Amino acid sequence: MDLGIAGRKALVCAASKGLGKACALHLAREGVAVTLVARTKETLDATAAEIRSQSQVPVTVVATDITTPEGRKAALAACPAPDILINNAGGPPPGDFRDWSEEDWQKAVNNNMITAIMLIKATVDGMIQRKFGRIVNITSAAVKSPIETLGLSNGARAGLTGFVAGLSRQTVRHNVTINGLLPGPFETDRLFTNIKLAAEKAKQPYEEALAAARKRNPAGRLGDPDEFGAMCAFICSAHAGFMTGQNFLMDGGGYPGTL
Ligand code: NAP
Repeated sequence: MDLGIAGRKALVCAASKGLGKACALHLAREGVAVTLVARTKETLDATAAEIRSQSQVPVTVVATDITTPEGRKAALAACPAPDILINNAGGPPPGDFRDWSEEDWQKAVNNNMITAIMLIKATVDGMIQRKFGRIVNITSAAVKSPIETLGLSNGARAGLTGFVAGLSRQTVRHNVTINGLLPGPFETDRLFTNIKLAAEKAKQPYEEALAAARKRNPAGRLGDPDEFGAMCAFICSAHAGFMTGQNFLMDGGGYPGTL
C-alpha cells in the first residue's frame, strides 16, 4: 500500500534506538525526510547511516536532549515545519512511589508529558495552515492498564493522553490528527534493562526472566520494533485522516479487557 506521504517531513524524537528508530525507518522507507533526535551522537550517526542505506530521503540528525527547552529549539531549528511529529523520550525508572521525590515527579512529567505538549504547541498551527499533520505520541500500555512498578510512567503519560484527547478533536477538521501509540513489551534496550533489574531483584537469572516474559505474553513472544514502526507509519499516512484522539495498543494481547 502506498501510504501517500512521500515528500513529507518528519521530526522523530528519541530516534536513535528502539521504537523511535523503527518509526523513523518506516517513515523514511515511505519517502518521508526524517530529522532524528537523540542525545548520543555516535548511535544517532549509525542509525542515520542505516536509514540512508534503506531509503532515498534526506536524513538529518540533531544530538540533543529533547526534554530541555534548548534541545527542542535545536530540533525545531533543524526541522522547523514538520508534517509529521513523533513524540518520544526515554521512560522514567521503575520503583516504589515512596522513594520518589517531588523532583523525580517533575522530571517524569517534564519528560513524558510537557516535552510532547511543547513540541505539539510549536508545530500544530503550521500543520493546520498546511492542511496536513500527523502527530503520534509514543506512550505506553501503562496508559490503558497501570504497571505496578512504573508509577511515574502511569501518571505522566496519563496526563499527556488526557490533554491530547481534547486537542485532537479541535485539529482533525484541518486534517491534523493526534494519536497515542501504546507499546506493550517490545524487544528494545529499555525493556531488556527493565527485565534485568527485575531479575536482579528477584535473584533470578536474566535469561530465565527474559524467557518468562516472552512466555507470559499471549503471543508467546515480545514485540518486534519493526511491527511498531510499520503501525506508526500507517497512523501517519494520508489514509488515516479520520482517526484522531485514539490510543492504539500494541501488546500481543496482554491487556485482558474486552474493549
Ligand atoms: P530505547 O530502546 O532505550 O531507546 C530510547 C531512545 O530514546 C534512544 O534513541 C535514546 O538515545 C533516546 N532518548 C532517550 N532519552 C532522550 C532524551 N532525553 N532526548 C533525546 N533522546 C532521548 O527505548 P524504547 O524501548 O524504544 O522506548 C521508547 C519509549 O517507549 C520510552 O519512553 C519507553 O518508556 C516507552 N515504552 C517502551 C516499551 C518497550 O517495551 N520497549 C514499553 C512501554 C513503553 P540517547 O540515550 O542517546 O538519547
